[in-house]
Amino acid sequence: MRTPNPPAPDILTDGGPEKPAEPTRPSAVLADARTGDDAIEELEQRTEFNDVGILLHKWKAARTLRSLPLYEDLVLGSLGKLADEIAVIRCLDNDDPFIVRAGDTFETVIQRDCHLTPLSSLPVNYQYTISSALDQARSAGEPSLRLCQSTVEGMVSTVELVVLPLSSQWEGEFFLLFARARSEQVDLASLLINSTREGILALSVLEEANGLPLDFMILSINDGAAKLLGSTVEKLRMSRLSKALTRTGFRRSMHALHRAMRSSEHHQSFTFEYDVTEDYTVSIKAGISRAGELLTVTLIDVGELRAREALFRSMFDGNPVPMIVVAQEDAQTLRVNDAALRLFGYGSEEFMRLGLHDLRLAEVSDGEVEETATLQAGGSCWIHKAAGGAMLNVVEYERDITVGDVPATLITIVDVTERTRAEEQITFLAHHDPLTRLPNRTVFTQALEKAFADFARSETAFSVLTIDLDGFKLINDTQGHDAGDLVLTEVASRLLALAGADDTVARLGGDEFAMILSGCGTREDASKRADRILSALDRIHNINGRDAKIEASIGIAMVPGDAEELEQSLKFSDLALYRAKKDTGSAYRFFETEMDRVESERRSLEVELRRAVIESEFELHYQPIMSVKTGRLRGFEVLIRWRHPSRGLVPPGDFIPLAEEVGLIEQMGEWVLAEACRQAMHWPEQLIVAVNVSAQQFGGDRLVGAVKRALEESGLAAERLEIEITESVLLNDTQDNIEVLQQLRALNARIALDDFGTGYSSMGYLAKFPFNRIKIDRSFVRDIGDNKSSQAVVRAIVSLGSSLGMDITAEGVENSEQLEVLISENCSDLQGYLFSPPIPQQDVNTVIDTFYAPASQLRADAEKVA
Ligand code: C2E
Ligand code: CA
Ligand code: CA
Repeated sequence: MRTPNPPAPDILTDGGPEKPAEPTRPSAVLADARTGDDAIEELEQRTEFNDVGILLHKWKAARTLRSLPLYEDLVLGSLGKLADEIAVIRCLDNDDPFIVRAGDTFETVIQRDCHLTPLSSLPVNYQYTISSALDQARSAGEPSLRLCQSTVEGMVSTVELVVLPLSSQWEGEFFLLFARARSEQVDLASLLINSTREGILALSVLEEANGLPLDFMILSINDGAAKLLGSTVEKLRMSRLSKALTRTGFRRSMHALHRAMRSSEHHQSFTFEYDVTEDYTVSIKAGISRAGELLTVTLIDVGELRAREALFRSMFDGNPVPMIVVAQEDAQTLRVNDAALRLFGYGSEEFMRLGLHDLRLAEVSDGEVEETATLQAGGSCWIHKAAGGAMLNVVEYERDITVGDVPATLITIVDVTERTRAEEQITFLAHHDPLTRLPNRTVFTQALEKAFADFARSETAFSVLTIDLDGFKLINDTQGHDAGDLVLTEVASRLLALAGADDTVARLGGDEFAMILSGCGTREDASKRADRILSALDRIHNINGRDAKIEASIGIAMVPGDAEELEQSLKFSDLALYRAKKDTGSAYRFFETEMDRVESERRSLEVELRRAVIESEFELHYQPIMSVKTGRLRGFEVLIRWRHPSRGLVPPGDFIPLAEEVGLIEQMGEWVLAEACRQAMHWPEQLIVAVNVSAQQFGGDRLVGAVKRALEESGLAAERLEIEITESVLLNDTQDNIEVLQQLRALNARIALDDFGTGYSSMGYLAKFPFNRIKIDRSFVRDIGDNKSSQAVVRAIVSLGSSLGMDITAEGVENSEQLEVLISENCSDLQGYLFSPPIPQQDVNTVIDTFYAPASQLRADAEKVA
């Protein structure tokens, strides 16, 4: 049941105070629906809404915390001259809201007589706007603002709508609806026409008396067309086309326009050049549509397009960077420049038949790209295929363009093949030995890590082999580095040939190689593999046309069994190698726990030795050298001893090799030299002092300086100092070492070749340097008597040595039988326990007293000692 309509309010004519005018706010403020105090404030401030502002004030003032202003209070009797612009809407449950009252002006704005009509009878745009404003005002309990546009005869007008929610004593909801049309209207056609850069004009024909067109009248023209014709809309509208165009432009276009008038086609187009000014010509494409006697013409400046295209073409065709344009739809080539043809090696026609898919072989993934670091921002890396099938590494840069009307992609191609190759080479070199091209230590360690990971995961056993060539240095020194390089590459290829697919072969440095034998988990297996390696290397190598034999030593650590982790596996196979090298050549050794013990002992000995150098725990012992000719003392050989705090007197054999290995020998050797020279100054002037010098001391030029200093500081005559060297000095870096020997000789010191007959013992060494003395090794002296050949060796050495003017000392003379033979073989000097072992310094004077005696006494004294 519908309640009776409320009575139409009595509207009092109460204008209320006018607010002073304020600047107009942009109407966009109202373009969206707004509610709340902000919106009200805005409304109040708007000049156009001055009176509405008062209404809103009233509405606000009448609103209490709990309820909306009463319809009866606000509407009845207080609207004044606003009453004309207002409608009252009432909503009953589920019913279409209806207008219970509407002012005259309101009806004019809405263009409908709407007193007591439902909202649904209003024009659709009002229906929609008002009901959405009602909804918002209802739910917010606030005024709601809306704009509503409508078109009348091509003119767009905007109506501002304000909805105020009210309460009432009557049933249903009440709303006050205010409507006011904005003064400005927009001409829709000119809005549309002028919103495009395209030129548009409408022409009507001006006929001659004979009915033929004479000229055209411009009925309408937009900014775009006016600009193209070099004028303004104002000047051109309602003027003759002949006046608007230059004469040439007019003549050209008249022709086309006449044709369009006669043609049965409704739409035609033609292109013409048009001189806007003397030196400015535009190319215009005109489209003509005919509607009865009316022509509409669209004008497009194609010159701009053409210029852009020409610019593109010149940048494209002549560009040294390879470029292609492909259609976006099927990636088929649309254009290709000369640089791209050159890069890919195709002819132009051939290339035009290809698509991007024919060029692209594979995309290079990000991971690989990072490695090569070629990718620049925005590019993607590809491998392309050139005409001959060659592969190119390229970076593609893409840009969307249109060719004609076709969406296309411009692809710029940067050829990075060379760069990639260089980068790959650098990466390769970072991981490989450049000579043998085997993986280096870094890669080997990575492979070892992987082997341990595999073992942890799937218990794949493996063995680690370290391989060291024996006598490689000799080849390098005697046959040159080229020969050495050949040996190393040959060894690398033989090792590779013996390696399985899962094995790793690496060169760790110098003549040291290593292998990981995957799945090789038992000592039997490893033995077989090691044997095979040794015999493969042992085969004759042809080095520079010369046959060479390579022997190697191998250390093996097993996983599991020996090593539990990476460092250990390397250390253990190294220890085993160390042992193998100590044994005779071409041998392999498995790691044994005892090696680890020896190694750690060696470590602690090293620590102690370093301390001993600092604390001066060394002393010198002196062994007499007897002259056969005079039968008297010739001098002393000094021999170093280590007075260890707990171990007692340590012989040099136990610490000299270690001192050499850890680089302490130079310091020790210099002390020995200085101390020996100092002591010798206390002896009779004829006695010499022989000092052992390690081959290690020959590295660098410290030795000569040390000898010089020892002589200067002690004041010893250089002729009294004899430097004992071993053959190894002549083996290593021969030329440099011989120079050092010559410098020592230049100081006037004497040089003795110690332990002759052991080691490589080439007679050739004797010719290399004019030694002052040869010392025949103790092993030959020991064998005299039981071994005829030893005596023959002694004889040969003596005969060669004395013919070269060298003194000959026989070492280790222990009995009179040996003495007899050595004297008969013409050795010049003798040393050995038969006369005296090395003695501490405090006994030196006693020995001098005893042995610095006439020759006749020599035999008798020696027999006494024996
Ligand atoms: P070496 O130069 O051949 O010295 C001779 C070695 O033979 C000495 O051993 C000496 O005690 C020992 N000897 C001498 N006569 C006999 C003998 O009749 N029978 C036997 N069985 N042995 C005899 P030592 O003192 O143990 O020295 C061993 C090696 O240590 C030396 O061999 C030398 O190469 C090296 N050495 C000693 N002192 C020095 C030093 O100050 N500097 C350097 N670089 N090496 C040294
Ligand atoms: Ca010696
Ligand atoms: Ca010796």
